[in-house]
Amino acid sequence: MKILETVPYTTVARQEDRAGTIANRNSGVCPVCGQTGAREWLRAPDWLHGRREQYTLVRCETCSLVWLSNPPQPSEMHLHYTDAYHNLISSAGLDSPARWGFRKVALAKYKQSGSLLDLGCSSGAFLESMKGESWRLFGIEMSAETAKIAEARSGGQVFVGDIPEASFAANSFDVITCFDVLEHVYDPLQVMTKVAEWLKPGGIFYVLVPNVDSAEARVFRSYWHGLEMPRHLYHHSPASLKFLAGSVGLREVSLETRRNPAVGTSLRYVGDDLFGAIGIRRTPVAYRREASLPWRAARKLVRMTVLRGLLAMAPLVGGGESIHAIFRKDDRKD
Ligand SMILES: [Zn+2]
Repeated sequence: MKILETVPYTTVARQEDRAGTIANRNSGVCPVCGQTGAREWLRAPDWLHGRREQYTLVRCETCSLVWLSNPPQPSEMHLHYTDAYHNLISSAGLDSPARWGFRKVALAKYKQSGSLLDLGCSSGAFLESMKGESWRLFGIEMSAETAKIAEARSGGQVFVGDIPEASFAANSFDVITCFDVLEHVYDPLQVMTKVAEWLKPGGIFYVLVPNVDSAEARVFRSYWHGLEMPRHLYHHSPASLKFLAGSVGLREVSLETRRNPAVGTSLRYVGDDLFGAIGIRRTPVAYRREASLPWRAARKLVRMTVLRGLLAMAPLVGGGESIHAIFRKDDRKD
């Protein structure tokens, strides 16, 4: 079966259309569950780049989804994904092979072979880690240049463009994965609808997103590093993610939260704000080099004392910083 039929180009104009047609973000109507009455939750700037513009997050009272009420237009979004941001991601080892161990084990419990699609596959680190005779590998990636790297590394086939525009046939995949991507898309419901369409009956969807209900998010609020204003357009909790998957007919197989601590970054943002209040502008996280020794020591002290007890128990109560969820498409033939 030929899974990928054509590779059309995504135009910014088409993205703008879609951004305009999704729920009016300022109306208080939840773009996932459709209920009214969403309330302002908090405001924060892009701490990472040290920019001043404030963004507003609102929260749905029904499904608990949090979203950015005034996101940048898709045509402006590249201004928020700077080279410094990309460098930070690679230097944090986010595309290193060691990162995939847990996910591969989790996946292997449910599927050991077949066709696998990685949404937002970036330069193909995960696809490469799945390389072998058991899997036919596919990806979706916005940048043509990055997609080429992913294809070379993994031997897979990568669609260039926006996720909902990929022309995969229905019932194509045994597994679809989506790691640290769903929070970046303009219309998660549309993406999930595609996931449900592309999965074979009985197929598995493995999604990983930051947990807006995590202990760290609750402690740091507008300073929480996971807010990533304005790159993260949505913030999911276990409850909102289950609701989203359920609304496209996917059933929960497993959902757990895991620690993915970045207390140092959140603390740094608190510090940037405090210094800013007295007129001292420190180098934003995106542009700084290694932290100074006194700062590292102070940070360690806070981690070891104040936050230790608070955060250690977090995953046990669903408060880890990352949600790892696996959903299944119903086995019935459609
Ligand atoms: Zn909702």
